Amino acid sequence: MCDLVIAGAGMAGLAAAATAVDLGADVVVHEKGPRPGGSMLLSSGVVWRHATFEAFREECPDGDEALQRVVWDGLPEALSWLEEIGASVTERETANPRTWGVRFDTRSVTSTLARRAGRVRLEQPLQALPERTPVVLATGGFQANVDLVREHVTPEADSLFLRATPWSTGDGLTLGLDAGGTTSSRLDEIYGRTMPATPRRIDPSRFVPLAQLYAHYATVEGSDGSLFESKTWSEIDVVQWVARRPGARARYVVSSDAVGTRVAGGRTIGELIDAAEDVGARVDRNGGTVAVDVVAGITTTLGGLAVDSRARVAPGVYAAGGDIGGIANGGYASGLAAALVLGRIAARSALEER
Ligand SMILES: Cc1cc2nc3c(=O)[nH]c(=O)nc-3n(C[C@H](O)[C@H](O)[C@H](O)COP(=O)(O)OP(=O)(O)OC[C@H]3O[C@@H](n4cnc5c(N)ncnc54)[C@H](O)[C@@H]3O)c2cc1C
Repeated sequence: MCDLVIAGAGMAGLAAAATAVDLGADVVVHEKGPRPGGSMLLSSGVVWRHATFEAFREECPDGDEALQRVVWDGLPEALSWLEEIGASVTERETANPRTWGVRFDTRSVTSTLARRAGRVRLEQPLQALPERTPVVLATGGFQANVDLVREHVTPEADSLFLRATPWSTGDGLTLGLDAGGTTSSRLDEIYGRTMPATPRRIDPSRFVPLAQLYAHYATVEGSDGSLFESKTWSEIDVVQWVARRPGARARYVVSSDAVGTRVAGGRTIGELIDAAEDVGARVDRNGGTVAVDVVAGITTTLGGLAVDSRARVAPGVYAAGGDIGGIANGGYASGLAAALVLGRIAARSALEER
């Protein structure tokens, strides 16, 4: 017996575990993969919120306002805690005037949290809810479950590029629903990036630098010949649109005059196109344009379990991170911020209910 069981050793699960250990609890963390850190370890490590709460609401109008408020208000304290316990900050700004936050070294966040997280049992997925011990579900969403993605997101699920770990297959969602929980709205929404369309395997360490983040400068042609114009700075709408084209494929056509333009991440469009070509994506240069084949890359699902402001799913069952919906719906918000803040809240709430 222990005081708290946690499923998942990514940002949400480790933050929950370390918080519970700080409160004197005896914690067991189950992790499906062979290492802690989840998709957080593959990420850019930027933990952020929108510059104002009003901007958050405007950008993510379909999310639950109370839950969004909890994340927005809770982030400064959660960031200070993470730094105080030893996680290394690499940049004290997000390089985006629309947002506020910091960039962490994700290896440092993982090792710092894992050291404080109690017993972390690797390659031991949680398969059933414990009978008398409270639990925090933090398994990261269902992006790696092709059947669930096909059912809820797109018939092109088999063709999506999985831009995340292979372990987040919706276990938290299933366990939470079995416990009497309900789903949030917008199970059909995903966050991701368009990636080079290549038959070659892309190493997870290249998920960030290979993102083709310049749809604003391109004509975006779906594989069915339809056209799309992005209306969001994050280009999240493009990814959701490409994910629903045949084969989850599109072509970005850029004027040769634009290839020197610097985009997010500081690289030029031309450099991103060259990187796509290097990994085997088709690139055609002619008539003053450059055309690149891209595929929708799914990073996280944005719908999941419904929780209240205490991260509660059902009696004795709490959830955080990619397992819950209601935060970034209708737009784009930091998955790491929500996982960090609500992971800590889930741990406190679960221990209070004991
Ligand atoms: C390339 C990339 C770049 C990103 N960049 C950013 C960024 O800069 N800023 C940002 O805010 N977000 C970013 N994200 C998103 C961010 O990483 C996620 O939103 C965040 O990691 C979600 O945290 P989580 O704890 O819910 O999931 P994860 O960190 O993925 O952790 C979930 C864990 O649960 C485990 N698990 C699954 N099933 C079970 C089970 N049955 N039992 C036990 N364990 C289980 C998984 O193996 C995994 O380790 C990025 C993601 C990627 C992939």
